[in-house]
Amino acid sequence: MTGKVYLVGSGPGDPELLTVKARRLVDEADVVLHDKLPGPEILTSIPEAKREDVGKRAGGEWTPQEYTNHRLVELAEADNTVVRLKGGDPFVFGRGGEEAEHLAANDVPFEYVPGVTSAVAGPGVAGVPVTHRDYTSSVSFVTGHEDPTKEESAIDWHALAETGGTLVVLMGVGKLPAYTGELLDAGMDPETPVALVERATWPGQRVATGSLADIVEVRDREEIEPPAITVIGDVAATRARVAAFLRNGPDTGEDNR
Ligand code: SAH
Repeated sequence: MTGKVYLVGSGPGDPELLTVKARRLVDEADVVLHDKLPGPEILTSIPEAKREDVGKRAGGEWTPQEYTNHRLVELAEADNTVVRLKGGDPFVFGRGGEEAEHLAANDVPFEYVPGVTSAVAGPGVAGVPVTHRDYTSSVSFVTGHEDPTKEESAIDWHALAETGGTLVVLMGVGKLPAYTGELLDAGMDPETPVALVERATWPGQRVATGSLADIVEVRDREEIEPPAITVIGDVAATRARVAAFLRNGPDTGEDNR
């Protein structure tokens, strides 16, 4: 077999944040399997003839992961050079781990190509460093997708509240009321600053800020939608101190609140 799969991170969306290696591999690939998360600018820079969308279908349904796994193996076995392009980093909530295991189980050679994760870059472009010597020396990356009230939830929000560190929540727009509620229940200060960063580095990036107590209201008023990052912790207040001089994205200079 001469086929090979590259599990490639696209970064958060700005084409200049695609690594040099990712750009080369995309250009050289026979086929690029992608979803929507690399963002419009990167996707339109790839010739349509070699793009295959394995993200959300027209009806709003996700392409089943089994199909993507199967398609990667099928294309590699037909001697294609395949790029599996994922938003951010392939191994951060990107199901890259499952794809790597599936490829290995099917004897398909693959390479992991790291990308700039939105978990760090999202807060950063809003002027929020995920760690800061004066405020926190730990950071947790969490999925907000799970229902925190369900019995079998794998995420212990009470324990997370107690770390005192920065919490970065991915896929956390819809269930924002549930997990901020859990954090408040756990005794986290209602004044804890929170920032929502929507479409970080995409055209139309937006930032909205509030506190643990009022961020749901802010989300609703500003109509913040996925993809967005939620960053919770004292570091989120850094934005207010640097925003006037920050030149990342169209919303700089003032908050949308
Ligand atoms: N592998 C990706 C994350 C995939 S999970 C990474 O490393 O960035 C999907 C979630 O990522 C989205 O729901 C959102 O929370 C976040 N996300 C990805 N790209 C984003 C962007 N440009 N702006 C804001 N959030 C983003």
